[in-house]
Amino acid sequence: MEKKVVKTENISFKCKEIPLTRRELKNLFNFHIPCPCCGMEMLHPDIYTELLGNPILSECASDVIPLLQQFEYIMHPVERQVFNMFKSLAVKYPNKNFQELLLMKKDVHELALVKIQSSIFNKISFYRRILPKKTARALRKLIIKTNDIIFDPEPHKPFSRRIFIHKLKSICKNIENKKIREEIIKIARRLPRSSDEVCAFVVKNARKSSRIIALNLIHPSVGTFEHLQPKCMNGENNSLNFALECTYCNNSRHHFPLTVQIEENPFMPENAQIQMDKLISLYKKGLCKREYIENLKNMFYYHSEGIIDLDISRL
Ligand SMILES: [Zn+2]
Repeated sequence: MEKKVVKTENISFKCKEIPLTRRELKNLFNFHIPCPCCGMEMLHPDIYTELLGNPILSECASDVIPLLQQFEYIMHPVERQVFNMFKSLAVKYPNKNFQELLLMKKDVHELALVKIQSSIFNKISFYRRILPKKTARALRKLIIKTNDIIFDPEPHKPFSRRIFIHKLKSICKNIENKKIREEIIKIARRLPRSSDEVCAFVVKNARKSSRIIALNLIHPSVGTFEHLQPKCMNGENNSLNFALECTYCNNSRHHFPLTVQIEENPFMPENAQIQMDKLISLYKKGLCKREYIENLKNMFYYHSEGIIDLDISRL
């Protein structure tokens, strides 16, 4: 497989016309399309918009659960675990809402979260022994400040993984040894996120209203248009540059290159093929256009530097 593709300023594949309108592309979410990155089935964004206005979401858990039950199959793993936790708690406490139920569980989950976090901060602290004095001092200061937040049951401001990694990166940017620099950031990336640890979801969401908690169970699964060439890098804002992707994967990519997204999601080439097979079957039923599929294959190949080489021979 050819790994490198010569990059040009303007990518123009065979197809120059916009193959699908936004409405036509959005319509594909009606057909159980899996995300090309995580492989999970996506929810039509209009169904989510409709849910946003539903007043039942603020009611007690025993009223909200039947409404959300229909979406359980598209929930991501952590969200599904939390939903199941709500289901068992609601049997015991039928009059409590999602926020009240999370607050009941917060302490035990916070303790579990702090245990994971502090062991990661300890691992990072070990690097003080081999870092230049100035950097080691800055690192010590950051860790002390962070420990003050996580060990305080009522911190002034809650711990933010994103801000911590940002500060750590700016401390580490002067470390000459690239390997050590990357090792430290890699350890910090293991800090739990609400999307991959139930304890982090509970702690983060216990501060939110019942309505937002209910929506947060569904939101990661909502289908979006992912700019294969990021918008900030002049990526086009139409179906020549759009892949259908879930909100979670779209948000986690930020503006990083597709190759970085593949590093974080090693099953992406296989999952992108599963989505492609689905699109081809829709094309055969007259529900998707050949031009979109051909362009999508080329875009994935180009931006993944040949790693995602989709088979469209059945087209
Ligand atoms: Zn996804």
